[in-house]
Amino acid sequence: MGLFLYRPWLPLEGSGETEKGTWYLWVGSVSLCDIQFLEAFMAQDIRVRFAPSPTGYLHVGGARTALYNFLYAKNQEGTFILRVEDTDQERSTEESLRMQIQDLEWLGLAWDEGVDPKTLEDNGDYGPYRQSQRLHIYKKYCDQLLESGAAYYDFRTDVESGEQAAVRFKVEPQDDFTFEDLVRGSVTLPSGMVGDFVILRSTGMPVYNFCCAVDDALMKISHVFRAEEHLSNTLRQKMIYEALGFDLPRFGHLSLILGSDRQKLSKRHGATSCNQYKESGYLPEALLNFITLLGWSSPEEEEIMSLETLVRLFSLERLNLSGAVFDEEKLKWMNAMHLRNLSDDDLWQRLQPAFKRAGLSLPSDPEWISKALTTFKVAMETLQDIERFEPVDDSRFALTPEGKDVLAWDDSPKVLAAWQANIKNYEGAYLDEETFGSIQNQVKESCGVKGKHLFMPIRVAVIGHPQGADLKSLVPLLNRESLLARVEKCLL
Ligand code: GLU
Repeated sequence: MGLFLYRPWLPLEGSGETEKGTWYLWVGSVSLCDIQFLEAFMAQDIRVRFAPSPTGYLHVGGARTALYNFLYAKNQEGTFILRVEDTDQERSTEESLRMQIQDLEWLGLAWDEGVDPKTLEDNGDYGPYRQSQRLHIYKKYCDQLLESGAAYYDFRTDVESGEQAAVRFKVEPQDDFTFEDLVRGSVTLPSGMVGDFVILRSTGMPVYNFCCAVDDALMKISHVFRAEEHLSNTLRQKMIYEALGFDLPRFGHLSLILGSDRQKLSKRHGATSCNQYKESGYLPEALLNFITLLGWSSPEEEEIMSLETLVRLFSLERLNLSGAVFDEEKLKWMNAMHLRNLSDDDLWQRLQPAFKRAGLSLPSDPEWISKALTTFKVAMETLQDIERFEPVDDSRFALTPEGKDVLAWDDSPKVLAAWQANIKNYEGAYLDEETFGSIQNQVKESCGVKGKHLFMPIRVAVIGHPQGADLKSLVPLLNRESLLARVEKCLL
């Protein structure tokens, strides 16, 4: 270190030996460049984690915590870790773990270290990554706290278990804890905020605060970003860190996500799990874009951003202190924007599950697909908005009672006959919008019929019903055979 610091152009004031090596003291100015160089050299690796408890679906709040940790890690070329906090054995299930992993993967938040998404085995040098497999580690540190007197057996905790006692951490009188929160600035947690707290239940199972502090220290977590409701836990964890002689990570407590009534977002506000949005036809790109903006803003106030852009622009300085409202309408708008940005191929693939569910059978030729998407996607907000494709499927064509009423009008038979003759004469595979317009004109002139007596029978000849789809956009998507087959059904 001494040699590294050597700057021959600065006058040397003194030097000496310490256990860690030689120290030097220079006088004179140190440039900003020197400081940055030093900081970069001395900076610890950025290691952040998302540590869900697998007790249900991935909530949008959890997704945001995961996202900020991910964005920070990627922006800083650090490591993003997935640790599973499953010591609450009654509520933790493997099914929940798999669901949460699936949602994180769907969002595109891949982790560098932690449980393997497929096998759930450990992947990395700091495992096990599931707390339920780290009990021997917690036992060791619990013993250490008991030995040093920082923790004690509490026989009163569980009368039913008789001899078995819980272990409590002893909160010594101490100064208030003031630290520089990465989101909130200077935060003071009054020392009296917490009393002696359980670290090991009488069942022998360790408790969140204890496991979390031990793991963050052993896994060399440098920054902890989590919801603000963990502030009092941070005080408990700080005490555990200090009692075990660990260095503290930096903390950032994220502001609340609020519902439309500005109360903490909860199920009564509507969908709160990522899975619900996935099922409702939202794109992961849109959901994560939206969630990122619940508590962070881009330097240029852009709204529509890809994950790649978010990684590039993400900075802690732009995390907001105040709670952000989860505005469903905005999310929908954002989804529509992302949906329009997808390539035809990509969008078509993503629409398949909805088509399948609706039992729709549609043409597969790329030119047709591109034409259909250009026509319909401007009005789509989610991948579920496929109703405009329905009239394209020939098997959906049915003459409704209202359609039959229109066909019973005096002028309808001659309008249908002229429509049919014009389509028969048409030589192309598809009518474009312009040809459709000129055919309508020809029918109008040859039959001497105008207004609704002209348009309604044609509409029924195309969709079987006098109201609904905009024919100007629909007709160019139906080939000549399809148009003929439909009008024939009306002539029967
Ligand atoms: N398992 C905790 C939770 O899901 C993690 C809190 C933390 O990040 O420390 O809330």
